[in-house]
Amino acid sequence: MLGGEVRLADLPLREDLVGKFPYGAPQLDVPVQINTNENPFPPSAALVADLTESVARAAVDLNRYPERDAVELRTALADYLTRATGVVLAAENVWAANGSNEILQHLLQAFGGPGRTALGFEPSYSMHPIIATGTRTQWVPCPRRADFTVDVSAAVAEIERARPDVVFVTNPNNPTGGSLPLGDVEALVQAAPGVVVVDEAYAEFSDRPSAIRLIERYPAKLIVSRTMSKAFAFAGGRLGYLAAAPAVIDALLLVRLPYHLSVLTQAAALAALRHADDTLGSVAHLVDERRRVSKSLTDSGFSVVDSDANFVLFGPFADATAAWRAYLDAGVLVRDVGIPHHLRATIGTDADNDHFLSVSERLTDLRE
Ligand code: PMP
Repeated sequence: MLGGEVRLADLPLREDLVGKFPYGAPQLDVPVQINTNENPFPPSAALVADLTESVARAAVDLNRYPERDAVELRTALADYLTRATGVVLAAENVWAANGSNEILQHLLQAFGGPGRTALGFEPSYSMHPIIATGTRTQWVPCPRRADFTVDVSAAVAEIERARPDVVFVTNPNNPTGGSLPLGDVEALVQAAPGVVVVDEAYAEFSDRPSAIRLIERYPAKLIVSRTMSKAFAFAGGRLGYLAAAPAVIDALLLVRLPYHLSVLTQAAALAALRHADDTLGSVAHLVDERRRVSKSLTDSGFSVVDSDANFVLFGPFADATAAWRAYLDAGVLVRDVGIPHHLRATIGTDADNDHFLSVSERLTDLRE
């Protein structure tokens, strides 16, 4: 292959990237794909028709750059958040990007960077430290308890010691599934000297109130990140967003690339938002299925971490990697998230879940 003789080690790569691994959830074509926390239900025919028509209309102007600040889309997102949380938000309170990963990158470009630090409660979302590395923000891991909850007084002490510029709180947490009560989030915000990013990628699956309620009290500190990839069944559309004080958005305008959200993305996301009520109808069903899956795994003798999201972390397996392979051999792609003895399974369609549960029953001999 052209240039194939050059290896990564031959390139003048930044020293801090040497030896690092890229984000790498396997993308394998197997019957039951429950490894990346997607919504298993495809968009409705009505949404596909509306989206196709909207994109066709937008395509006529593709010779022009998109509306740079995506105000119509941010207005629609603000309206959705207002309906979902009861907190009145305007377009000026919302920022949007290509997935919440890009939102998080914008945040670390603006509030992290060389000489700055970001702290997170591990195990948590693996991209937080990866985006920190990419933006040259030093990562400060703060361990969770053995049961994956956050020890709030230890966390406050660590924040006071490390004085991070950015604190990440993933709520509900990925890959463990539990949530921190809002009072505990507030205690962390009070302790933080810099900004606190509450990553609410899975908020729609949880009964707990959103941290968006706390923005009024902590406008210079609190940022809440969201995504259309999970509950909205729009992972392929790539649309993430955040809620914060308008000044936070002013900061992000300094680092975003011009025209980062394409005309097509904006038109498609607006169409998806017009069908929000219909799409989000799947959330209650997925929560019911999460309960069914958790109970059935527990009945089979597994231990399952309490989940507030659309996935469950379960175990214990003698060897999680061997168990992951055994699921794959049975046509089920789950996630080995690197937590010893545990695997993570996304809640799929009812048929996906049935298949996953019947394979799980057969694999009990792989348990620790
Ligand atoms: N935050 C968390 C906690 C996640 O689990 C994910 C997706 N796995 C994301 C952010 C990023 O999702 P996206 O870029 O698709 O919005």
